[in-house]
Amino acid sequence: MAVKFLDLYKQYLSIKPEIDTAIFSIIERSAYIGGVSLTEFESNFAAFQDSSYCVGVANGTDALEIAIEALNLPTASEIIVPANSFISSAEAVTRCGHKVVFADINSHNYTLDLIDVEKKINPNTKAIIAVHLYGQPCDIDGLHNIASKHDLRIIEDCAQAHGAEYKGKRVGALGDIGAFSFYPGKNLGAYGDAGAILTHNEELAIRCRIISNHGRIDKYNHLIEGRNSRLDGIQAAILAVKLKHLDKWVSRRNEISKAYLSAFKSLSDINLPVIESHVRHAFHLFVIRTQKRDLLQKHLAERDIETGIHYPIALPLLKAYDYLGQSNEKMKANYLDKQLLSLPMGEHLTDDDVIEVIDAVRSFFN
Ligand SMILES: *Cc1c(COP(=O)(O)O)cnc(C)c1O
Repeated sequence: MAVKFLDLYKQYLSIKPEIDTAIFSIIERSAYIGGVSLTEFESNFAAFQDSSYCVGVANGTDALEIAIEALNLPTASEIIVPANSFISSAEAVTRCGHKVVFADINSHNYTLDLIDVEKKINPNTKAIIAVHLYGQPCDIDGLHNIASKHDLRIIEDCAQAHGAEYKGKRVGALGDIGAFSFYPGKNLGAYGDAGAILTHNEELAIRCRIISNHGRIDKYNHLIEGRNSRLDGIQAAILAVKLKHLDKWVSRRNEISKAYLSAFKSLSDINLPVIESHVRHAFHLFVIRTQKRDLLQKHLAERDIETGIHYPIALPLLKAYDYLGQSNEKMKANYLDKQLLSLPMGEHLTDDDVIEVIDAVRSFFN
């Protein structure tokens, strides 16, 4: 029996009548751009994530870019980005005309190492991209302390953290502004590209809306030159259906993680994810660390168990960031990328699947 890393078709079958109705209602009304499905999803998602405002956009990378642009930082500001993330977290900074400065990650939950963040701050530093990597909120209180000392903005990258909580509050509006991706494989995924921006700041929300919709305040009245980055009606309708199931799905991810954690705690060759006591981890990914990563991955593949690596090349080591000269920096991120392995995780896994993964990992180490 194969264990899949992701199974979107199985998820669709579990909610097919609701999804089909939602899609056809948009087609029947021809409400492809904007409309009630969008405004309804935006207000439901803002409420779900404990935020005041939500602006739907075309994808998670645009969400980051538009959020940064809306902050109106001085041109060529330095923005701190964690060295282990998906490239979007850094790309958006450069696209907005700012400079990426990578800071290291810690080795217990792989989010920003605050000691290294402080070292990277200089008078040109204006913001920090707080990535809640793998679904675990980073140390937001610690970042707020640093940010207030140096007058920095905090942009949360929540692309992997739908439903995650920090001290009882959902992520997304814990900093100045937050960006979400609804790429199909995320915890809350559309049937194509989609994204959203959250904030408690009304002025920022309005600016994001204007930027994402051609700078318009009216159909042909354009305040500024903006761009076209909208969340379309069909995607919004699909997301509204899936949002109703998200809490249950995140709970199932936590249940699976508990099974993994207790089954693997006696294995001295692997480092398990450390869950901070004050968070609800969204477990987009369950990432372990081992020196025998490649052999373990091969062993699991031979047993038809799919795994992933997030990410195989730390951002400072990518060709795209050669120009920054941070590849030789002694950062943990620059060598941990060879040890990280993502095990199957998601509500698609049955109890038998979980047992199969557990048995396969144990048989490798014993
Ligand atoms: C997926 C992801 C993004 C980008 O989202 P897209 O919707 O694919 O543009 C940004 N940051 C992180 C951490 C991600 O995992």
